[in-house]
Formats: sequence, C-alpha cells, structure tokens
Amino acid sequence: MSRMTAFQFTLQPTAEQETLFKVAGGAARLTYNVLLGQVKDALDSREWDPAVKVPWTNFDLIKAINSWKRAELVGRGLDWHKQIPTLAFEEAAVDLSRALADFSASRDGRLPGPKRNFPVFKTKNSSPYSFRVRNQNGCLLIGTDSGPRTIKLPKIGIIKVREDTRRLRRMLRPGIDESGDRTAPRAVITSVTVKQCRGRWIASFRVTADDFHPDRRHAVRSDGDVSGSVGVDLGLIDLVVAATDEGREVVRVEASKTFQRRQDGLARHQRALERKKRGSKRRREAVRKVAAYEGRTAAIRRHRLHEVTNQLVKNHDLLVIENLNVLGMMANHKLAKALADASFGTIARMLTYKAGWYGVTLLSADRFYPSSKTCSGCGARKKKLALSERLFSCDECGLRIDRDLNSAINLARLVAVLLERPGRGSSPGPGPVSGRPGDQCATQAPKRHRQSKITAAAEGLTTARTDRVA
Ligand SMILES: [Zn+2]
Repeated sequence: MSRMTAFQFTLQPTAEQETLFKVAGGAARLTYNVLLGQVKDALDSREWDPAVKVPWTNFDLIKAINSWKRAELVGRGLDWHKQIPTLAFEEAAVDLSRALADFSASRDGRLPGPKRNFPVFKTKNSSPYSFRVRNQNGCLLIGTDSGPRTIKLPKIGIIKVREDTRRLRRMLRPGIDESGDRTAPRAVITSVTVKQCRGRWIASFRVTADDFHPDRRHAVRSDGDVSGSVGVDLGLIDLVVAATDEGREVVRVEASKTFQRRQDGLARHQRALERKKRGSKRRREAVRKVAAYEGRTAAIRRHRLHEVTNQLVKNHDLLVIENLNVLGMMANHKLAKALADASFGTIARMLTYKAGWYGVTLLSADRFYPSSKTCSGCGARKKKLALSERLFSCDECGLRIDRDLNSAINLARLVAVLLERPGRGSSPGPGPVSGRPGDQCATQAPKRHRQSKITAAAEGLTTARTDRVA
C-alpha cells in the first residue's frame, strides 16, 4: 500500500532561472492552447466528414504537440524550446487529455460531482505561469552537491530553495535492512510542478510514499466496538468543536481574531494600491505587496487547519463529521466570506486523506441530520434554533449546554447507525466528504499504547497550541 503526499518548497531562482520558468510556463500554456485549438478544429471538421480523427487521448495529444514543435519551432529555426524541459510540453498535453476525459466522463454520468465543462483556452490572467515535469529516469533531484537547500530540474539546473529539504531527502534515501543490504526508499518522487504563486515561485513535489509504520496507525477495532467515537462540529463562531459520545469535549478551536485583523490589513494594502498610477513602478510594487499579504494569510490558515486535523486524526480513530453542503452554503452570500475563512471544505478534505494515513474511520452524517437541534440529553428535537443562539436549552429535560458541544456529541453518537448502513455513510455527492471512509480503516494490527501517550501529550498542548496560532 502507498499514499500520495506533496512537499512544497519556495524557490529562490536567479534572474536567468526566473526567465526560464516563464518560458517553460508560457510553453505549457501555449501547448495547451495549440492542442485545444486542434481538437476544436477536428471536432468542427467532423461535422462534415465523420472520418476525421479527433486527437483526444494522452497518446494522440503528445504525438500532435511533437509534430507541431517540429513544424512550427524547429522548421522555422526557433530554438527557445531547447532551453526548457521537454517534459513541460508533454505534461501540458497530459493536462488537456485529462480535462477532455473528465468532460466525457462527466457528460456520460461516470464522474460524480458538478458538471465539467469543455476545456477553455488559457490566458495569462486566467492561469498564472505553471509547468510540470515528471520524474523520468530520476531527472528530479532534491539536495544536490551544492547543498541541502537546493533542487535540480532538467535543463534549468540547480535552484536554491528557502526551506530545509531534509524530511523529503530522508524519505528518498534507500534503507538498510538487518543483513546490511540496501532496501527500497520509503518514497519516490512522481513529478514536480513549478508555479508562480502570489509573487513567489513554488515547487510542489508529488510523492508516492509507503504507508505509515503500523505503530503510527490506530489499531483495528473489533466488530461492533464504537466506544470513544468523536463527533466533529464545524462552525463559524468556534471553528471546530469535537466531543466524544460520552459528552467529553476533546477539541475546541475558536475562530480567531487573526483573520479579521488580516482582512483589515488586506483592505489597507488594497487602498494603497488604488492610489498608485496605472502602469507605474510603484503600482507594480503595491500589487506585489497585496499578493504577498494574501499569501501569508493563506499560509497561516493552512498551517492552522493542518494542526487541527492532525490533532483529530492522531488522537481519535472513529470520527463523525457533518456532511456540509459547502457549495450550497457558499451560495448564501452573507455567510460566504465567513465560510471561506472557516475553510470547512479544506478541513473535510484534510480529514479524509489523513484518515487514510492514520487508519481512522471517518464517517459523514446525512446532510439533513439535525445535529444542532437535537438534545444530547434526552433526544428531543427543537423545531427552531437561530444561528445566534449559542446556548442549547432543552424544553423537555431542561439541559443547558453549549450549542456546538451539543451538536458534536450528537454526531459522535451517530456512529452505530452510520456503520450499519450499507456503504457506511459514504455518499458520493456534493458534500465535502465524498470519499470512501469505510475503505480507509487500518488493515494492520498495531499496538495501542502509543496512541494514549500522544493523546495525553496533545491534550495538554491543545489550548497552548491553538492560542499560539490563533
Ligand atoms: Zn433534553
């Protein structure tokens, strides 16, 4: 078994390297557009002549771009394409073939989720510089002779990176078994995408890695054991509240003031930008500042979401999450910005893939299950509960409890019902958790002691850590 993961590094290219990045990114965009043009032409011609073959697959498109290169570049004596990785062209062709395949699959109902449109041409504004190189014959290197903070790309050469590459380098190193023989490395690089993102150049390495060591994964539960299940309530006032079926709160992350403050900061930078004359040097500098500020905010948010989701999957092996119709809620304009900040969808996505890594069973409640309106004490259901009511007070049994905590407890208690259901609550739909939660259970039988140690340590840290980030 293996898992996919990614490592991102911020690049520090020289001026020449940056130019090459732009050439390669431009070439990728050009490739995509040239091929899309050919596909469209072929589709038009087929209206008149059914014998016309439309290039559609990977193979067709790569062949087409190679002959286009021969005719339009080599034939005309242009040689800029020699300075950049050949694979940048091929991977752009692969992108188009994927977009076309998704379009077909979506049209025939083979692809769940929102309808995919026919691919459109890429413009400089719609798609920033980006190109991908797959790791053919080990052409991508991390930490070269020039030092640990470097990477090597074909043709472009050695590029400095800002972060330490140690973790990835260790995963790529061959291991040694008991008899002193070399064993296969724990991970292999599949490809790298270099892209310009908010004023910086980022290299994102796609990596296929071995599963976590059984000690790091949760033990397999015996059939019917649902003790200690944890419900995860996502909200706007408190971002995440998680509680066990017994009613113990295990995680609470308050939606922080940080993002409100950064929103104000962004507005300030944007006002400064508005004052600058179009086309001026100062305006360009102001644009860069806005982008950098947004980038920093996004990084802070991502870091925080990783912390929360790690805490959940490392300490609990049975999670129930609301199946929030994020897209539907986004359409509600008033809530949209707050929701985007809360990043519900990202949390659900992170929990889904991390559940697979750690052997966690992740279940999702029905989209219409009234977790907030149900009393966790007696099960009575309220007809109405305004978003502003932070305290749940039951008319039947008189229970008074924090609204989100109540909801989390209800979700935790849903486990038995969800596990009995055929398909185990995996509902491929517009909800965020349209994965295969059932499939992601642990297959090995690791020891249990490790988990309790982590739980104890993490619970001590909970408040301190969230405060620091918030
Ligand atoms: Zn009650």
